[in-house]
Amino acid sequence: MAKRVIIAGGNIAGTIVANRLVQKLEHEVNKGDVEIVALNKSDEHIYLPGQLLVGFGLETPGELVRKESELLDPRIKFLHGQKGTISKIDVANHSVQTADGVSHSYDYLVITTGVDYTWDEIPGYRSAAHTVYEYDDAIKMREALEKFDGGTIVVNTAKLPHRCPVAPLEVTLILDDYLRKRGIRDKTKIIYTYPVQGVFGRPITNKFMLRLFEQRGIEVHSPFTVTSVDPNNKVIESQEGEKLKFDMLIGIPPNMGAKVIEDSGIGDRRRWVPTDKFTLRMKDHSNVYVMGDATDLPVSKAGSTADFESYTVAHNIANDIKGNLGVKHYGGDVLCYIATGTDQATYIRFSYTMNESPPPPSYVHWWGKIMYNKMYWTVTAKAVV
Ligand SMILES: Cc1cc2nc3c(=O)[nH]c(=O)nc-3n(C[C@H](O)[C@H](O)[C@H](O)COP(=O)(O)OP(=O)(O)OC[C@H]3O[C@@H](n4cnc5c(N)ncnc54)[C@H](O)[C@@H]3O)c2cc1C
Repeated sequence: MAKRVIIAGGNIAGTIVANRLVQKLEHEVNKGDVEIVALNKSDEHIYLPGQLLVGFGLETPGELVRKESELLDPRIKFLHGQKGTISKIDVANHSVQTADGVSHSYDYLVITTGVDYTWDEIPGYRSAAHTVYEYDDAIKMREALEKFDGGTIVVNTAKLPHRCPVAPLEVTLILDDYLRKRGIRDKTKIIYTYPVQGVFGRPITNKFMLRLFEQRGIEVHSPFTVTSVDPNNKVIESQEGEKLKFDMLIGIPPNMGAKVIEDSGIGDRRRWVPTDKFTLRMKDHSNVYVMGDATDLPVSKAGSTADFESYTVAHNIANDIKGNLGVKHYGGDVLCYIATGTDQATYIRFSYTMNESPPPPSYVHWWGKIMYNKMYWTVTAKAVV
């Protein structure tokens, strides 16, 4: 009987690993010895990193959306809608139930269900904040910024960890440049609020960014742990006892793992799935792998992380099936471009054992960021390299 590999969740992580698996197991898939099944809520694939640029009118929203079915290798069985929406992951019985009532058994499972935003953890936050974290909101933020003509803008990060840890830095630095180019920076105060001391969780990047923020005249209030927002009076309040008045609030919402992780009883308090940091196996379940934003790993929740992880997961599943390839370890690799304006960027590349060393911001790295985004559809998602 054919071995079945199920990929649970199909945006960045699920798509890359499904395509990479077909390549790794091409012979077995072609012979019908291995079946790869991808399950996702919808057939819409949104490239979330592009939303940052949409929020400032630097990218067209339509560029960020493609059909999942067109990104996946045709040899992958893809189910979406009721048929692809997972209601329960049953790791004890090696099966996944979908909303149409069908139970799908698996030999190997890859959990790539990503993140849910839990705005309601903070009263008033959802209705008061603009954000680039959601597609429709990124478009609304661009419209609101076009109408903005001066005042106080607060950029707030609600909780750590959240996906794309560098995005709050990017939002703030692009905003600064955007307002300068519109000639209203001197009429605008930008306040950056962050739940831990400083502006970023890694010491080298924190120091680098603090210098940049100082040069740009951006106020930093940290630690600042938001507890509530008053949308009528436009005040954001912190656990540390600060109250800040704003004319515009840009928010990074609280992140948790997907609801199905809690419903299946397989996550921690914030629904992250316990994952071995090297093999990427779910702890205590040797035929289940976890990738992308869904893991509890001490690495950035980023598309590049998912891409790096996909080599390990695809290889290890191929080894589980063929038995002659050896086990591959993920080294904690992450690459993040950091936009520092509307046409300049730096980047950080680090791993479990290597620290980052961000180069001075330049147009060359901005170009690198744009190319990385553009190549997503034809190269990264299709696992071409
Ligand atoms: C504004 C912004 C900028 C970013 N910039 C960058 C960047 O420059 N570089 C970078 O590397 N990363 C960046 N990221 C982060 C990157 O987008 C995420 O890390 C990446 O999307 C994670 O992919 P994922 O597949 O793990 O999770 P997701 O993209 O969340 O995908 C999870 C999928 O699982 C599906 N799913 C969930 N529950 C179920 C269920 N019950 N049944 C079926 N399907 C389900 C979801 O519908 C979704 O399709 C950015 C993110 C944002 C928001």
